[in-house]
Amino acid sequence: MARGKREGLLIAGGGLSGCLAALAIAMKRPDVPILLVEEGERFGGQQTWSFFDTDIEDEDRWLVEPLIAHHWSGYYVAFPGHSRKFRTGYSSIRSEDLEANVRALLRPEQYRLGTRIAAVREREIVLTDGETIKAEAAIDARGAANLSMLELGWRKFVGRDYVFERPHGLELPVAIDATVEPGGGYRFVSCLPLDEHRMLVGDHSYSASAELDVDAVGARLDAYVARRRWAPGEVVREESGVLPVPTGGDFDAFLRIGGARVAKLGLRGGLFHPVTGHALPDAVRTAAMLAQQPKFDGAALHDLFAAHSSKLWKQRGFYRSFNAMLLRDERRAAMERLHRLQGSLIERFFAARSSALDRMRIGRTG
Ligand SMILES: Cc1cc2nc3c(=O)[nH]c(=O)nc-3n(C[C@H](O)[C@H](O)[C@H](O)COP(=O)(O)OP(=O)(O)OC[C@H]3O[C@@H](n4cnc5c(N)ncnc54)[C@H](O)[C@@H]3O)c2cc1C
Repeated sequence: MARGKREGLLIAGGGLSGCLAALAIAMKRPDVPILLVEEGERFGGQQTWSFFDTDIEDEDRWLVEPLIAHHWSGYYVAFPGHSRKFRTGYSSIRSEDLEANVRALLRPEQYRLGTRIAAVREREIVLTDGETIKAEAAIDARGAANLSMLELGWRKFVGRDYVFERPHGLELPVAIDATVEPGGGYRFVSCLPLDEHRMLVGDHSYSASAELDVDAVGARLDAYVARRRWAPGEVVREESGVLPVPTGGDFDAFLRIGGARVAKLGLRGGLFHPVTGHALPDAVRTAAMLAQQPKFDGAALHDLFAAHSSKLWKQRGFYRSFNAMLLRDERRAAMERLHRLQGSLIERFFAARSSALDRMRIGRTG
């Protein structure tokens, strides 16, 4: 993208949604000039994104397929009174694979790392060193910023990648092991067998506060793997984060923060599953939508994505009410009851596509 010329597309933030948007353009619209700007020294942060096969529309799979590091044909859940195997496929993408794909598909002049952005406007971004880069459209994908307009609980996560001395023997992921101590909110452990010896074990807890003591949760994970008799093992990697899970709020006011006419993707655009806090399926959808646009204009992209996210916010009110329950006392029981229902209903729940009948059925169990 030539400096000073108004052409192509600027993407602010090289995290999950910014990278997927850039990859979609590079794959489907290689003629469109793009510039992906990220303040970190690498793309995608340090995390593992997991999703069910049914979270992604068939027509959008071309975008995720090349990124998948692990795929399993099903998964388990375990609650105090009930455990179950599901045959829904489950996949994980690692941030290093997202980063490698971005570097492979984008030419060096199409991205900048280590570059902090001060402001994003409809058709330009302003860097903290004072440089202004102009284009036909700019997209703000800089992750969560000001969430004060939303009423939120938090899903806190610490994951440890263990390499055990002996084979752990787990063939399919345990997506939810809620037989562990609740610890103040709905809490569960997940286990992703990455190979015979290696496993990503994660501790997830829902809470009204965003505070996370990573070391204390890490120690809880060590105790868990010892209890499962997988230890001894070495921790080769750790990831952690705190994800917003809304119970309500003024979404229009939230969307106006940081520029009422700026196109926003990812967390900044309110595009995530209200219950899981996961953003990958929405980011895949919006990246695919972006690549389908006949032309790129800042105002038109704002209108497109604002209408999309506002529609989803309205459709997803049910999940925000469900969150209120997860953050209260009956949370684990609510999730356990959900996991006794039909497999396809659970798939739609995690894909945020529950039908009216699903919502009635889930509500009836509440
Ligand atoms: C440990 C962990 C595990 C997770 N697991 C899952 C999962 O299994 N499935 C799932 O779907 N979701 C998962 N999530 C949630 C998901 O990662 C986030 O919701 C998602 O990353 C949000 O995407 P985003 O593009 O909006 O923001 P981000 O991915 O946070 O990207 C924002 C990017 O913008 C950059 N940036 C910010 N400010 C500036 C600036 N001023 N100038 C330049 N660059 C800037 C940041 O450095 C960052 O790279 C997980 C999150 C964490 C932390």
